[in-house]
Amino acid sequence: MLALVAALFLPLSQGVAQAPAGFARYVDRAQLMREVAALGNPGLEGRETGSPGAVRARAWIVERFREIGITPAGTGGYTQPFTVTAPELRHVLPGTRPFQTTIEAANVVGRIPGRDLGARVIAITAHYDHLGVDDDVVYPGADDNASGVAVLLAAARHFLRSRPQHTMVFAALDAEEVGLHGAKTLVASAALPRGRVALNVNLDMVSRSAAHEIYAAGTYHTPWLTAVLLEVQRRASVRIRFGHDRPPAGAGGLEDWTRSSDHGAFHAAGIPFIYFGVEDHPDYHKPTDTADRIDPRFFGDTADMIVEAIRTFDARLP
Ligand SMILES: [Zn+2]
Repeated sequence: MLALVAALFLPLSQGVAQAPAGFARYVDRAQLMREVAALGNPGLEGRETGSPGAVRARAWIVERFREIGITPAGTGGYTQPFTVTAPELRHVLPGTRPFQTTIEAANVVGRIPGRDLGARVIAITAHYDHLGVDDDVVYPGADDNASGVAVLLAAARHFLRSRPQHTMVFAALDAEEVGLHGAKTLVASAALPRGRVALNVNLDMVSRSAAHEIYAAGTYHTPWLTAVLLEVQRRASVRIRFGHDRPPAGAGGLEDWTRSSDHGAFHAAGIPFIYFGVEDHPDYHKPTDTADRIDPRFFGDTADMIVEAIRTFDARLP
């Protein structure tokens, strides 16, 4: 903690401060920032499910998966197509135009085989869709959730270099904003072996926090994960907070996020989850959720903490 505060006051001429000894560092931070800017680019028109911008975003993610070299785990490649029909849609922008009846959507799914092929699977997820364009205004969704996808890519790169014990499935999910449909599709699909998924690690909004802290929600439902995350905290330079996963009464009024992002579909299927995400900020679901408002130091520290957490889950899963 002291070292962090000291780093803030280093003269700029000394450049980026070295991480204090003992803090986990895995991620190429310049690449992380390039990738969140690429996916949070307003040119992708807010990546609304079924839109040309979402199709271009998906192609960009497929290209990253290919470049990274993880094994395709979709339907005949990296993509896992599905459709969402009108009665299932719950759009979140007020006063928006009605959806077309059937929307073509697709997840992007890859796998890194673990050293122990008999072990269960860890599913790492981050949605890439966002709210699109409303009244000619683009909602770029840089924190929500280009940031989660950028960390997912960084984690995939790490675990290809440092092979995990458990097989890991990496999924960039579509149609989260309209009802977690990509996650529901993934959970029901052959990309995840039925009854053999040990844990979902879901990333959604991980790049901004004035307080330099991020929630790890889910320990209320799976209490043994608390000790694992406290172990991670010792090697992390962001503060990990617990909560947002239980009834608000008796939880300081904190909203229950158990069903508020893709981990909700895993929870509904009885699969333990940890959801990493920041507290809502003033640009949440606004056109001002842009990449230039991301805090590079917080984002880099968080990405390293998330990779450290996944490594520790991999080592500690019963
Ligand atoms: Zn989101």
